[in-house]
Amino acid sequence: MNQLQFALAGNPNSGKTSTFNQLTGSMQSVGNWPGVTVERKSGSLKKQKNITIQDLPGIYSLSPYTPEEIVARDYLLTGMPNTIINIVDATNLERNLYLTTQLMETGIPIVLGLNMMDLVKKSGKTINLAKLAYGLGIPVVSMSALKKQGLEELIQQSTLVAEKFPPETTYPTYDDRLEVALSEIIDVLGNTVPQKQARFYAAKLFEKDELATAALNLSKIQQKEINEIIAITEKIFDDTSDAILVNERYEFIARLMALCTVNDGELRFTISDKIDQIVTNRFLAIPIFAFVMWGIYYLSIQTIGVMGTDWVNDVLFGTLVPDFIAKNLQVWQVAPWMQDLILNGIIAGVGAVLGFVPQLLVLFLCLSLLEDCGYMARIAFVMDRLFRKFGLSGKSFIPMLIATGCGVPGVMASRTIENEKDRRMTVMVTTFMPCSAKLPIIALVAGAFFPQASWVAPSAYFIGVTAIVLSGIALKKTRIFAGDPAPFIMELPAYHLPQVKNVMRQTFDRGFSFIKKAGTIIFVSSIILWFMSNYNFAFQAVAGDKSILANLGRVVAPLFAPLGWGSWQGAVATITGLIAKENVINTFGILFSHLDEVSENGAEIWGPLQAAFTPVAAYSFLVFNLLCAPCFAAMGAIHREMGNAKWTFIAVGYQCGLAYAVSFVIYQFGHVIFEGGAVNLATILAVGVLAYIVYVLMRKAPTPKDDVISFQQLKEEVK
Ligand code: GDP
Repeated sequence: MNQLQFALAGNPNSGKTSTFNQLTGSMQSVGNWPGVTVERKSGSLKKQKNITIQDLPGIYSLSPYTPEEIVARDYLLTGMPNTIINIVDATNLERNLYLTTQLMETGIPIVLGLNMMDLVKKSGKTINLAKLAYGLGIPVVSMSALKKQGLEELIQQSTLVAEKFPPETTYPTYDDRLEVALSEIIDVLGNTVPQKQARFYAAKLFEKDELATAALNLSKIQQKEINEIIAITEKIFDDTSDAILVNERYEFIARLMALCTVNDGELRFTISDKIDQIVTNRFLAIPIFAFVMWGIYYLSIQTIGVMGTDWVNDVLFGTLVPDFIAKNLQVWQVAPWMQDLILNGIIAGVGAVLGFVPQLLVLFLCLSLLEDCGYMARIAFVMDRLFRKFGLSGKSFIPMLIATGCGVPGVMASRTIENEKDRRMTVMVTTFMPCSAKLPIIALVAGAFFPQASWVAPSAYFIGVTAIVLSGIALKKTRIFAGDPAPFIMELPAYHLPQVKNVMRQTFDRGFSFIKKAGTIIFVSSIILWFMSNYNFAFQAVAGDKSILANLGRVVAPLFAPLGWGSWQGAVATITGLIAKENVINTFGILFSHLDEVSENGAEIWGPLQAAFTPVAAYSFLVFNLLCAPCFAAMGAIHREMGNAKWTFIAVGYQCGLAYAVSFVIYQFGHVIFEGGAVNLATILAVGVLAYIVYVLMRKAPTPKDDVISFQQLKEEVK
C-alpha cells in the first residue's frame, strides 16, 4: 500500500480538530512546529495506518500575517502533501471559501470537506453539492465531524485524488484582465518556480507579498517586468493590486454561492441568531457575561473547587501525606535534616501548588464548556471593541479576569488567542492583576499603615488594571508588537452542544500540564529555598536571620533602598514571594517576630513593621510586589505559553522593570509630598522616569515600514 500524506487545512472553528480526532483516534503525536509555539499535530488513520494526516493550524488565508499562516504555507509549499483536505464550515461558507481559493492555487490536489452539514440542514438552507463541486472543480464531501458522518467518504475521495496520475489540480479563474496579468507574470517567472506552483507565486507576487518576493530571489529584470505588469493592471482596475485580488476572490465566491445555495424563501432566524440577539445585545451583553463569569467563579473558586482545594491542602497534604511519610521516615531512621527537607521543604512546597489543582480543574472544565459551545467567541466579540482601543484583543479579557483568582490559569487561558503577538502581550501583562495570593500583602499594608483609609485595597486593583491598559498602549508602540497586521476576523460559529470528549480532553490536557510543569519548578525551588533559609554558606544549620537567604537579602537590599524599603527583611520577603506570594507575609512573620504563623492580615507584626517602614515605603513595597515577576508557578506558566526562554525573560524583565520604575516614582514623590522628605538627586531622577513613561505612552506608533521588519522577523523565527 502506498504511503499517503494528507494535510488538514481550514479556518479556526471549522471543525478541524474534531475531524482530526475522529480520523486518528489516539494515534496522534502533538508537538510544536520548529521555532514557534504553534501546535503541530499529526497522526495515522485509525483504520489505514499507511495514511498520515498532518493537522495544519487554523488560518484565514495564506498571506502570511501570523506564525500560523507562515507555518501552514511553508508546509504546503515545501512538504507537498498528496492531498489537502480543506475543512469548511458550511454555515459560514462564503468566508471559509476565501481560504479555499488560495489553497487551490498551491498546485496540490484538494478535497473539500463541507463540515457542520447537520447545522445547515437544521437551519433550512440547502447547499447543492454537485453545483459547488462543479463550480470549484474539486470533489466536495458533505460531512459532520460531530455526528461522525461523511468521514469515510472524505478519506475515499482524498485517496482517489491522491492516486490520480498525473495529479489533477485546478484553480479559480478571475476577471480576464487579471488573468492576463497573472499569466504574464507566470511567463516572466519561467523556470524560477516549479510549474505547479507558478499560479500560487504569480498571485502572491501580484499581491506584493513580501515573503514570496524574498523567497524567489528574482533577477532585477524579472522584478522590473513584474512591477510593470502590476502597475498597468492597477491602472486598469483603478485599485491597488492586493485589493484587486481580494475583490476578485470574493467575486468568484459570490458566483459560486449564487450557483449552489438555495434559501427556502423568507429569511429564517436560526436558534443561534436568536440567542445572539440577546447575548451580544448592546446593553445586555456585559451583564450576562458578568453573570456567567460570576457563576464560573462561584463554582471553581468558591464552592466545588475550593472544597477540593481545602481537602488537598488540609487533609491530603496537611495530614495524610505528611503523617504517612513522617512515620516511614522515622521507621527508616532517615537523618533529621533529610526528614525536615522532605516534610517542610518538598511536601509543603509542592503540596501548596498541587492544592490549586481541584480549583483549576473545575475552572478549566467550565472554560472548555464555554469555549466548545461557542460562547467564548461571543465574549471576545463583545469585549473586542473596548480592548482594541489599547492594543489588546477582546480575547485578552478572559485571562485577566481569571488572573484575579490565580495568575497560573490566567496565563494559561491566553491559549485561546490565535494571534501570536496578542497572545504574547497578554501573557506579559496578565499577572499584573492582583491574584488571591497577593491579597494578604494588600491586607497587611492596608491594615498596618493605612487603618483609616479604605482606598488602599481597591487601589491595588486599580493599579493592576492601569498597568495592563498602559502596558498595552506602550507595548503596541514598540517594534516587536507594532501594528495589528492580522486582520481581525471574528467568526461567530453557530452554538453547539459541547462535545464531552473534546471538553474532557482539553480540561485534562490543561490540568496535567499544570501539574507537570509547575510541579517540577516548584519541586526544585522548594528544595533550594528550604536549604537557603536553614543553612549558612558553610553549610551549617543556623537560625533564619543568619541563613544564606538573610545574607543574600542584605546584599540585594540596597537595590531596593531607592524604593524606600532597603531593609533585608523586605528584600527577603520579596524574594520568597517569588516562590509563592503567600510567602511574603509568612516571611515577615518569621523575620520580625519569629512566629511560624501569622493571621491573614498579619496583625501580630504590625508593630515591628511600622517601625521598619514608613507608610509611603510600605505602599511602594506593596506596588512592587503587585507588579514584579509573579510566583514561580506563574513564571512556569509564562514559560510554557511563551515557548522559549528568551520571551520568558523579556516578560519577567518587563514586569520587574515596570514594578521598579513605578515604585520608585511613587516612593520618591510620596516621600517629598507626604513625609516632608528633601528634594534630592533621586527625586529629580524620579521626574525623569515619570517623563520617560509619559513619553513612551504618548509617542507616535511606528510607521508601516516597521511592520515589514517585524514581518521578516517572523519569517526568521519560523526558520
Ligand atoms: P477547529 O477550531 O477547526 O479545530 O474546530 P473544532 O474541531 O474545535 O470545532 C469547533 C466547534 O465546532 C466545536 O465545538 C465542535 O464540537 C463543533 N463542531 C465540529 N464539527 C461539527 C459538526 O459537524 N457539526 C456541529 N454541529 N458541530 C461541530
